[in-house]
Amino acid sequence: MQLNHNKQLINLISVSITSTIRQVMQTIDKGGLGFALLIENETEKFVGVVTDGDIRRALLQGYGLESNISTIPRPESKTGHITISSEQITSLFSEPVRVIPLLDDAGKVADLALFDKRVRLPVAEPSLGEKELSYVTECVLTGWVSSAGKFVTRFEEMFAEFCNTKYAIATSNGTTALHLAVLALDIGVGDEVIVPTLSFIATANAVTYTGAKPVFVDSEWETWNIDPNLIEQAITPKTKAIIPVHLYGHPANMDLILDIAKRHNLAVIEDAAEAHGAKYKGHPVGGIGEIGVFSFYGNKIITTGEGGMVVTNDSEIAKKIRILRGHGMSSERRYWHPVLGYNYRMTNLQAALGVGQMERIDEILAAKKRIAQSYNKALADIDWIELPPQSFWSENVFWLYSIILQENSQFTRDELSEYLSEQGIETRPLFPCIHNQPIYNSNQFLPVAELLSQQGLSLPSYITITDKHLSFVISTIKKMDK
Ligand SMILES: *Cc1c(COP(=O)(O)O)cnc(C)c1O
Repeated sequence: MQLNHNKQLINLISVSITSTIRQVMQTIDKGGLGFALLIENETEKFVGVVTDGDIRRALLQGYGLESNISTIPRPESKTGHITISSEQITSLFSEPVRVIPLLDDAGKVADLALFDKRVRLPVAEPSLGEKELSYVTECVLTGWVSSAGKFVTRFEEMFAEFCNTKYAIATSNGTTALHLAVLALDIGVGDEVIVPTLSFIATANAVTYTGAKPVFVDSEWETWNIDPNLIEQAITPKTKAIIPVHLYGHPANMDLILDIAKRHNLAVIEDAAEAHGAKYKGHPVGGIGEIGVFSFYGNKIITTGEGGMVVTNDSEIAKKIRILRGHGMSSERRYWHPVLGYNYRMTNLQAALGVGQMERIDEILAAKKRIAQSYNKALADIDWIELPPQSFWSENVFWLYSIILQENSQFTRDELSEYLSEQGIETRPLFPCIHNQPIYNSNQFLPVAELLSQQGLSLPSYITITDKHLSFVISTIKKMDK
């Protein structure tokens, strides 16, 4: 159910009760919603809803196009007062009732609750505002829409400062950022890179693209991230790097990972695609290992539509990544290509969105935190739910607020998900483990990640969710708690 607050739409589909069937059909046609609102002539008071189905049945019964609409049979319309709660509206909808006019004190239609647009609370949704619109408009008006332009540079500068790194290089998406990071470390055929099995597929694919082999490691309960205690046994003479992922916004256990990397002379690439602004012992993630990588896909903490970023403090790596990003072209000679490069550049249009988003990132992160706190508070006493990780040494940014169902709960994760979906609440299972994916199929048994993956569910986490909708998600989950 969604309220329109759309006076124009209401006027468009309102028609006098003294009209003919033909006139009403024209009105229904204009609105495109399959129904019209019948109103009294002078007072404009609501009389009833007439649908295209009602008219079809009337015509079949022998009514003519010039018959008066008031003479045809139609079911009684349900209405509510404009102050009605969304729960009450939901209870009024039934199979044939797809619209509920909400009336003001004078009996006139002030708003419409439409079944077609019933609550669909998504897991994630971009929040774009005036700034983004104005910067993108500037690109269009000035013609700077490709990968040259001031927004790319500005976005890179803002992001480097945000991560407390010397360099930031914007890319076409998070996966190309990861690919460039692996390439910049000269990793390729014959090499191995350690990755957590519980992540989005791109973490492993970026390694595979270079000809190197991703080696999968289990997760730890404490953070849901790569278990540092299991990394050393995965190291071989071929291992070149570790890619910890800060999953769902909670930082990985970096000190232990950095210590192992140092002892074995391995590089660390942080996959921070889901963790913009998260802090590990006070340090922004992405700037802790040799290289950090971010994504700005539409459902990420901030978005540029598609987009990515590589951050580093190493000037050689930064230089290499810029060259690889732009077709491997020499920085001294145009159209001269000493290395095999790629076109992984970000456009000025994307960066314009990015600059607008960066100007609002504190507000976005605060909203994420507020949502997580509300969920945490409300779900803490449900014994079949395990709350998302929050170690004392880190700041989780709760990209997607995700819970784990206890194995002994009376229903499965998918049953909960289906039940919520019926109520219009979208959820998302945690990623399937990468070692089980058809393209990798490594035949390992990695029990913690497998359990998290099987029992984990992300809840609506978009930052514009209203308090009312958040309470609705919580109360709907609590209804399962019986
Ligand atoms: C989203 C994501 C990526 C890939 O980013 P894209 O911009 O979608 O290419 C990589 N790693 C993780 C952990 C992600 O969540």
